[in-house]
Amino acid sequence: MTTQAVHTCAEPGCTSTRVQPVDDRWYCSEHAGAALLDRMRADREVALHPDLMPWVAMVGPLRMLKHPWVYTVLLAPGDANRMYAHKRATIERATAEKNWHTVVWAHERPYRLRALLSILLDGQANDPDGLHYIEASDVPPITEADPDLRLLALAVWSDAENIAEDLRLWRALFDVPDGTFLTDDHPDDDTDDDSPTGHHSTRQWFEDLPDPVRVYRGGISGDWSWTTDRLLAAKFAEHGVQRSIEHTNFGVRTALVPKTQVFGALTMRSESELLVRCTPDLWPLVHPDRPDAYDDEIGDGA
Ligand SMILES: [Zn+2]
Repeated sequence: MTTQAVHTCAEPGCTSTRVQPVDDRWYCSEHAGAALLDRMRADREVALHPDLMPWVAMVGPLRMLKHPWVYTVLLAPGDANRMYAHKRATIERATAEKNWHTVVWAHERPYRLRALLSILLDGQANDPDGLHYIEASDVPPITEADPDLRLLALAVWSDAENIAEDLRLWRALFDVPDGTFLTDDHPDDDTDDDSPTGHHSTRQWFEDLPDPVRVYRGGISGDWSWTTDRLLAAKFAEHGVQRSIEHTNFGVRTALVPKTQVFGALTMRSESELLVRCTPDLWPLVHPDRPDAYDDEIGDGA
């Protein structure tokens, strides 16, 4: 049996031992709410950490903190300071251990590509200010990264949402030599039993696809990114509609692509993604008003 330390509610006069933590103290459910609000009030009185000051911005009606490590609506400076201290400790520890996965994922999503590139270029990513100064011309192709960082880069790619903002950097990273084929298969493990495609590996999935292969894309993400999943592409097109300011429906594009044009395949996020070399003839089939129009105009893609 384990013995548990018994805590008593910190409210003067209360003897309850059914308590929950509020920062570094313990309160019963009756007193926790008031204690929490007291702490919030105190957090609002605190000065924002000077490192965070340059990253405050208005986004519409919201005061936001857009630091690479803390990206949040700014309510109380004390909260932001605590998150910053926590992230800094995490990133410093992971950097010492060369645990680049933790370093990259500890960055907020809009900065993960730049964190990864900083690791590729400088061997570290613990200088948030430096992230703005990465030039596309300095970015090495992903094939020059070691296998672990290559997998990390592909995971960041799959997870990214602001591809258009960093398109030049992404293009440089994916500017790989002819004959390259990228997959998210782990180099030490070619039996991926969890694969959503039901194949042993992403490479196997790709090899079983017909040639040429029918691909689709919805929305406006990176132009080499296509999927074999028509419904998924339609979903992305919808997503684009919801998020774009103009409420433009970008529709679903489709193309029949020789497999020699494909330089990578990713299945880790169940997105059945193919990386296709950009060529102008992959662009003409756009149906902004009728995302499903290609069904009757192109047939079944034979
Ligand atoms: Zn109490």
